[in-house]
Amino acid sequence: MQTELADFIRDTPEGREADAILRKCVHCGFCSATCPTYQLLGDELDGPRGRIYLIKQILEGAEPTQKTRLHLDRCLTCRACETTCPSGVQYGRLADIGRGIVEEKVGRGIWESVQRTVLSAVLPRTGLFGIALALGRIARPLLPKALKEKIPSGTETAGKWPEPRHKRKMLALAGCVQPALAPAINAAAARVLDRAGISLVEAPGAGCCGALRFHLNEQEAGRDDMRALIDAWWPMVERGEIEAIVMTASGCGATVREYGQLLQHDPAYRDKAARISAMTKDLCEVVPETAAGKLSMPRRVAFQSPCSLQHGQQVRGKVEALLQAAGYELSPVADGHLCCGSAGTYSILQPELSGKLRERKLAALCAGGPAGGPECIATANIGCLMHLQAGTGTPVRHWIQLLDE
Ligand code: SF4
Ligand code: SF4
Repeated sequence: MQTELADFIRDTPEGREADAILRKCVHCGFCSATCPTYQLLGDELDGPRGRIYLIKQILEGAEPTQKTRLHLDRCLTCRACETTCPSGVQYGRLADIGRGIVEEKVGRGIWESVQRTVLSAVLPRTGLFGIALALGRIARPLLPKALKEKIPSGTETAGKWPEPRHKRKMLALAGCVQPALAPAINAAAARVLDRAGISLVEAPGAGCCGALRFHLNEQEAGRDDMRALIDAWWPMVERGEIEAIVMTASGCGATVREYGQLLQHDPAYRDKAARISAMTKDLCEVVPETAAGKLSMPRRVAFQSPCSLQHGQQVRGKVEALLQAAGYELSPVADGHLCCGSAGTYSILQPELSGKLRERKLAALCAGGPAGGPECIATANIGCLMHLQAGTGTPVRHWIQLLDE
């Protein structure tokens, strides 16, 4: 694609990055076929090709409008389009650049601004989120249905975290909302890895990975969260105490794996960020099949592969193989490449589209095969887990909890 970037962006690092991405796009439109919002809305501007065109116009000097922002806001950043694109267009990175500019130029209404400010203030802070969750549970019976379904009634207890007794050590990210919503996930990961001769440890003071604020278009605040997390991890990395950084939430993993790219223009953090990204693995990439217990009777499970795992990190088939090795029967899932509608804060900010995508995803997950429907849905990301569980009576769990059993 030919480009002619405007003066305000042409000679900036972001301008050069965006230009290189745009030039790869041949406008073939293959990506539209796998875009969930294009499938729902049927508007070219709610598909990747149309959004790429909108961003190109902005970078070439066109003034963005409320309508431009609406089409960009509706994008889930699921990155299914990247997986489909034959030219290797990094749509997600281009969307980040375009959204950053639009956010600066087009103001939001009061309600939207308040909503975003609250989300960005509360969600990344584990302590504050824990308090908000406890208060929400008390007020739950009085809340409207849409809000009530966002607040789970209970939390599974974590169980015992094994002592770090092995020579092989890996570092886990506790995350921001996961410790309050599902502390059992990291504890289950620690127990399964302990059986494989690996001790899983967490770093004191490690907080949010930065994805939340970055994707709320507070990109510099998001980068500050990334720098703070690097600072918390760095002493253990520098001393060579850990062999990998393990992500139990694929949404965080997709972001941490891109620290090197997101902080490439920060001379103080560039090298550390690249090293952190290179050490980062999703949990399914480090758990050996032999670490799983073997079920005495087969159980049927439907696996929802989060977009952040299959498109963001390009990791496919590994969780499925681990579940099968442990004796689980995988229930068939149609259109497994499509997003469930969770997508970070998308389910709160775009409830209508998110709800439709969840309905479709749950229908596909629960359809089952000749042997019947699944007893349980497994996923690899806390956001998807909470979002899907709010729409079904079938238990939704992190896959590592199934292996821990
Ligand atoms: S992003 Fe890729 S698939 Fe989509 S129009 Fe451009 S080249 Fe084609
Ligand atoms: S990231 Fe997802 S929703 Fe956004 S354009 Fe690509 S496929 Fe569509």
